[in-house]
Amino acid sequence: MTEQLIEKSKKYLWLPFTQMKDYNENPLIIESGKGIKVKDINGKEYYDGFSSVWLNVHGHRKKELDNAIKKQLDKIAHSTLLGMTNVPATELAEKLIAISPEKLTRVFYSDSGAEAMEIALKMAFQYWKNIGQPEKQKFISMRNGYHGDTIGAVSIGAIELFHHVYGPLMFESFKAPIPNVYRSLEEDPTQCRDECLQALERLLIDRHQEIAALSIESIVQGAGGMIVMPEGFLAGVRELCTKYQVLMIVDEVATGFGRTGKMFACEHEGVQPDIMAAGKGITGGYLPIAVTYTTEEIYEAFYDDYQTQKTFFHGHSYTGNQLGCAVALENIRLFEAEKIVEQVAQKAEELREVLDDLQTLAHVGDIRQLGFMCGIELVQSKETKEPYPVEKRVGYQVSLKMRELGMLTRPMGDVIVFMPPLVSTKTELEEMVTIMKEAINVITNGEL
Ligand code: PLP
Repeated sequence: MTEQLIEKSKKYLWLPFTQMKDYNENPLIIESGKGIKVKDINGKEYYDGFSSVWLNVHGHRKKELDNAIKKQLDKIAHSTLLGMTNVPATELAEKLIAISPEKLTRVFYSDSGAEAMEIALKMAFQYWKNIGQPEKQKFISMRNGYHGDTIGAVSIGAIELFHHVYGPLMFESFKAPIPNVYRSLEEDPTQCRDECLQALERLLIDRHQEIAALSIESIVQGAGGMIVMPEGFLAGVRELCTKYQVLMIVDEVATGFGRTGKMFACEHEGVQPDIMAAGKGITGGYLPIAVTYTTEEIYEAFYDDYQTQKTFFHGHSYTGNQLGCAVALENIRLFEAEKIVEQVAQKAEELREVLDDLQTLAHVGDIRQLGFMCGIELVQSKETKEPYPVEKRVGYQVSLKMRELGMLTRPMGDVIVFMPPLVSTKTELEEMVTIMKEAINVITNGEL
């Protein structure tokens, strides 16, 4: 039975972000999950060390979330949001607005983080057209940024490995530098931050008349290697966007819903975005719901008689899906009842101490963390910060070793990603870090 299933997976599937030759050499089929562990078809258990790609909040098979879906299923699974709404989508909208930065007063649903960002881009573009400034058509985005895999999201992304193939398909966006303290010469966060803000201001001085919006991940660049921006950078970007009349699109897809120890990471700096995208943890990691938030000012620029052609012509078949919205509502209720955000903030301090132990390893160059969003950068030389040759695939080898030792995660190049479910206990966090330490040790000191 298990062999047959593995053969079928090799024969029929094409997996996302996966070289299928790698999969075929190391197949894995998950069958069930409970708490912060998942189990494969052979009965082997693994810690979900990356929250099933940065989604999971309360663990797997959380009774309340399971029940919310079952209860909704007894009413209806799905009906469209085109020209009408449904009960949980409406209730959820109110809740989402109550927990978000106060300037954000409207929500537009979609099914994935990439779509939420596509919607943000199209809204920003059309906003200027609708208010009579159609010359503002271009975007500024950050170097090393990631916003998803649809063409719009890729156009404002800047991760060479993922994006260069699609260059001819993309629209142009101006790239602004992002402060990477570890890779900077002086390793001075303030200097690094100020240089990047100055470069952004120069770009805005030259181009602001043609810029509709700037897009940026919120405090942490996730897929770019868990790069934590120095204090004050996001707030500085906000100031510049306001000064040069450019809309600020903040991408909270990875950082939102408690991941960094605040409900949304932009709260760390009191930043109020004009448009904000969220997804992933919104349903506790259960179902594909994403959301694009906007201010009332942007919403009103689209509100008029139909004949004025200001309508936002965008939507998806499953937009506002009832099952997804019902589980998202219960997820938010649990956030409040179980004080998840406060707990992450507190446990993150303990996690920092546990992670500190990895500093002793010969090839751990940098440990970056904000809340439960962590990246451990492996380098060939700690002194010179020289990376490993790409072809050695050290990060990938470490992740395979971790799998063998009972934990799943996916690296970003040679940055080991550690993003456990938000309910992980101190003991579970310690056990996961022990697995990580052993895997890094074996691979970087032994087999390579
Ligand atoms: N934006 C950020 C910051 C992300 O990290 C991701 C996914 O990792 C996305 C957008 C895309 O989200 P999705 O995979 O749901 O399309």
